[in-house]
Amino acid sequence: MRNEIDRDLYEILGVGRSASAEEIKRAYRKKARECHPDVAGHDPGSEYKFKELTFAYEILSDPDKRRDYDAFGLRGIGRDAGIDFGGFTSFSDLIDMFFGDAFGGTVFRGGGRRTRARGRDIQTTLTISLSEAAWGADKQIETEKLAQCEECGGTGMMPGTRMSRCDTCAGSGQVRSTRQSLFGTFISSTPCPKCKGRGEVITEPCRQCNGGGRRWVTETLELKIPPGVDRGDSLRLRGKGEGGLNGGATGDLFVVLDVESHPVFERDGKDLLTAVEIDMVEAALGTELEIKSLDGDYKLKINPGTQPGQVLKVKGKGIPERGGGRRGDILVRVDVSVTSKLNSEQKRLLEQLRAARKGK
Ligand SMILES: [Zn+2]
Ligand SMILES: [Zn+2]
Repeated sequence: MRNEIDRDLYEILGVGRSASAEEIKRAYRKKARECHPDVAGHDPGSEYKFKELTFAYEILSDPDKRRDYDAFGLRGIGRDAGIDFGGFTSFSDLIDMFFGDAFGGTVFRGGGRRTRARGRDIQTTLTISLSEAAWGADKQIETEKLAQCEECGGTGMMPGTRMSRCDTCAGSGQVRSTRQSLFGTFISSTPCPKCKGRGEVITEPCRQCNGGGRRWVTETLELKIPPGVDRGDSLRLRGKGEGGLNGGATGDLFVVLDVESHPVFERDGKDLLTAVEIDMVEAALGTELEIKSLDGDYKLKINPGTQPGQVLKVKGKGIPERGGGRRGDILVRVDVSVTSKLNSEQKRLLEQLRAARKGK
């Protein structure tokens, strides 16, 4: 469900991008009739479909919003409305938010029924070291979230108390009003503002959550990071997101990983890149170096005649693939420095070398 935020509104209505206002209206009416709650009853699938359609229609039937949507997608609409649509992880969250705001979240909650809603997914970032990314680690993370209230079990009522009939709507959950609607002007029933369409009200709200059924909590979680992870990977912890409403399922927590940069190594997938500096004599004669890796020291043989900028490989000592397994390599770029301060003895030897090479 993630990254589904940019669902195509034209596709939802089943019209082309060049559809006229009239075509959009017709398409909406036709589709909306099939899944309108008055026709389809309180079937969650139809309810959602109806919400989706209405959302798409609200935007595409408004010339300004349609222009913004065509140019910038849903984020263009959100910007004007002062909403960060990027903060939503799924289109259905967005729809919930839209209907929550536009109609008090109650448009389909009739008949004295309390609607279950799944808690939202939440996201957090965890920064780990390069070694932890390579070998895996056990970490603790702290999240702050809305969790189901333990006192009332998410009902919002003081334990042992009951709901009582709403006197504003006499328990029907609906109040009648005349309304300009997309289907024309007609007398319609709208959800009762007092009981939010439930037909019942809480007589004694839970003292812990003030009747909301959820409370802000800080939770500490143990997190096992598998070996071979990289920056941007995310781990999903099922049921560790926001608490649901009225007994709805708990959302998930996504932990997005960030990996600190390392003082010695740069990472390229499974490979580690680094550089060593040797002087011209070692480059000419060859030598052996100790290379520090993430899991110990390795010998690196420099062959005689190694050129500046040459890249040597320590095979299989890089980072394991995701979940562990085959390791990448360490790639070592050899920088060669030219000795600038020579004592007289060294100078004499180099002069000898020059003479010997000329003589050849
Ligand atoms: Zn409570
Ligand atoms: Zn009521």
